[in-house]
Amino acid sequence: MSLYFIDVILPIPLKQTFTYNVNKDEAAFLKPGMRVAVPFGKSKIYTGIVNSIHRNTPQGYETKPIDQILDEYPIITAIQLKHWQWMASYYMCTLGEVMRAALPSAFLLESETIIALLSKEPQDESKLSDDEFLVYEALLHQPSLHINDIRSILDRKNVVSVIAKLLERKIIVVHEELYEKYIPKIKRYIKLAPEYTSEENLKKLLETLSRATKQRQVLMTLFMLLAQEKKPIDSILLQKKSESTSSVLKTLIDKGILEEYFIQKDRIEYTGEEPSEIKKLNKEQEKVFGDIKTLFETKDIALLYGVTSSGKTEVYVKLIKELLVIGKQVLYMLPEIALTTQLIIRLQKYFGDKIVVYHSKYSINERVEVWKSVLENKSKAQLVIGARSSLFLPFSDLGLVIVDEEHEPSFKQYSPVPRYNARDSAVILTKLHKAKILLGSATPSLESFHNAKSDKFGLVTLKKRYGNVLLPEIELVDIKEKYRKKRMTGHFSDTLLEAIEQSLKNKEQIILFQNRRGYSPVIECTTCGVSPQCPNCDVSLTYHQYKDQLRCHYCGYQESMQISCLACGSETLDNKGFGTEQIELELKELFPNHHIARMDQDTTKRKHAYAKLIEGLENHDIDILVGTQMLAKGLDFRNISLVGVMNADNLLNFPDFRAHERSFQLLQQVAGRAGRTSKRGKVLIQTFNPNHRILQQVSTNNYDEMFTEQMEDRYQFKYPPHFRIIKITFKDRNFSKMQKASLWFTQALKIKLNEHVLGPEAPPVGRIRNLFITNILIKIPKGQSLSRTKGYINSIDRSFNSIKEFSSVRVIIDVDNY
Ligand code: ADP
Ligand code: ZN
Ligand code: ZN
Repeated sequence: MSLYFIDVILPIPLKQTFTYNVNKDEAAFLKPGMRVAVPFGKSKIYTGIVNSIHRNTPQGYETKPIDQILDEYPIITAIQLKHWQWMASYYMCTLGEVMRAALPSAFLLESETIIALLSKEPQDESKLSDDEFLVYEALLHQPSLHINDIRSILDRKNVVSVIAKLLERKIIVVHEELYEKYIPKIKRYIKLAPEYTSEENLKKLLETLSRATKQRQVLMTLFMLLAQEKKPIDSILLQKKSESTSSVLKTLIDKGILEEYFIQKDRIEYTGEEPSEIKKLNKEQEKVFGDIKTLFETKDIALLYGVTSSGKTEVYVKLIKELLVIGKQVLYMLPEIALTTQLIIRLQKYFGDKIVVYHSKYSINERVEVWKSVLENKSKAQLVIGARSSLFLPFSDLGLVIVDEEHEPSFKQYSPVPRYNARDSAVILTKLHKAKILLGSATPSLESFHNAKSDKFGLVTLKKRYGNVLLPEIELVDIKEKYRKKRMTGHFSDTLLEAIEQSLKNKEQIILFQNRRGYSPVIECTTCGVSPQCPNCDVSLTYHQYKDQLRCHYCGYQESMQISCLACGSETLDNKGFGTEQIELELKELFPNHHIARMDQDTTKRKHAYAKLIEGLENHDIDILVGTQMLAKGLDFRNISLVGVMNADNLLNFPDFRAHERSFQLLQQVAGRAGRTSKRGKVLIQTFNPNHRILQQVSTNNYDEMFTEQMEDRYQFKYPPHFRIIKITFKDRNFSKMQKASLWFTQALKIKLNEHVLGPEAPPVGRIRNLFITNILIKIPKGQSLSRTKGYINSIDRSFNSIKEFSSVRVIIDVDNY
């Protein structure tokens, strides 16, 4: 009887942990954070992470032994395990779901049961059943089979008994083999054989090679490279630089003049340049820098509220530098890493070989390498730059987290589980590490600014742009009036057109912002008012002129443009609203002699497309760039004098309680692209609604007023940061079943939570990919226990899951769903 047990986290959404038994030696060897392979169910094998080792015999079921220990030391730290626990409980999911998001998939080894013949000796086939024979025969033709292969050979699911019989008869062997997917990349390097390192011998050698010009050339190049690079010289570089071939290299190696050696290559390469000095901070930056350090003596969280181009990044750089010097790790989080090449290049200049970028699009191997470097606190990974998933790295000595553009919605992961906010989760992470966290923004989120005002966070501000550059002048253009006076050309007011012409004349660049891609979002029949709809979703299709197609932006459905209205048959389909593509075309007609480009999801799909657009702007190959909110982020260009917003109204009218806050942030951010040099930039915002409070506040840079008014609205309508929100979504193919399930759930919730349960209510798009959708909102006032409320929701969810009728209904719980 075994008396040692481990609780293991498995990457499945069933329970928090699963108990297995181990023997005494295994129990002594295992530590939390190590991986084990364990059997699960009838035939599955999973990789799990050991959560604890104990001697409490579980009651009511028989434990199974583990299959295999996969690590010699923990690959997950104790702090990470705690952080996972916090995430699972806060965001209402299982540890396994957090684990799946946290670990590079290479760590979640794939399990395949492998079956092979025990010996090549022929067997007496007459003794085998039909099934056994089929398996045996297949193994004569191939060295091994997986369980799934056998399932298809026998054309049934339960094949274990057949395998067991063959095992019993000693015809086959079974071994569970877990593949390590991670293969380190090995690189070949070249050096001079040691006997030639003395000057004398080297001289002689060069003399003997005087007529072997090619070989001599390789040697000379090697010396040159060694002097230049001060690091190992890889064979391919040497071959290239000496304009030589691999056979010349081989000859030199065969002669014993050169030696080859191999090093495991790291994916992230350092260019070899000496890091630049960090910039000297100006008076304001220096003050902020000092204030942050003082704050950090008593507080763990600080918010840096600094207008666009005030030099926040340079302040971060100085803070980072101080921590790197004392060997601490720093995590620099950005909302979307793909859009921030400029920033990465900037940081690389200062921190060279200490910087590592962690990106969910990197290959598995690259991610594993970063993981291991961070775990071992290698100096080459002391500063990690990454988007939200970088938070899951196994920091061993974290000193500081910077969350740049902290207000950005993309710090929240909506799907899949865990539906976490990376900024908030980073706050907890730094707490566990006893580290500090600095949030930065030109337009802080209401919740962070609120936290700063109520003294939960420290607050520091930078009100001036660096180098006394003025904030751009922002003007609202009333297009209702312009339409009335017939002063519109297409979607351009005369004011905007004149400004564009002026900028072009001055050889300055222009950015135009339209928060919609495609040609015109909606096609409408002017006879009957019907718009073509997506067959799978309750949403109108978007017209894309370039391919003359109608597309659904929710599910990807597409069809060719309809010639006549499907409802009434008249050929009176017309555009309603407009997207980036249409603006681009109008511009091309208006300014045929200028270079016009477009930046949106459609034009940046291909690799390097985004980088090319940035390069085009930098080299001034582009005069006017039209784009969606991609434009708003992280671009720092010297020569943009004019920013135009084609239509601010569709931002403001977005059906979301944060629409106003978001509009303010986005418009300020877009405006911030203008005039980053001595000349004051200009921003023109076209709107039907120039008296809208938010637009007024944008045009006067009045964040404080926006904050106060929005906070009042939030209070009145019971929204964050005054109330917390949990959203529960129900999805089903069958409308009435979905309806019934959500009503059942609502009623159950109301028993205790009463009027704080709202809905069920259909979202603006009530059907996506043929699934009907409805939402319940739970509002949790200050003072009501969050964990008790969640516990209550969980208990209702459990009862719900036991109702057979609702078994097909998907329930999605989203904590802090904004
Ligand atoms: P933010 O991050 O607040 O938008 P940046 O850090 O990008 O601002 O600074 C805006 C511009 O001013 C950048 O081009 C930056 O190089 C320059 N800059 C900021 N601070 C300094 C400084 N102390 N010395 C020299 N240049 C600076
Ligand atoms: Zn659709
Ligand atoms: Zn019609």
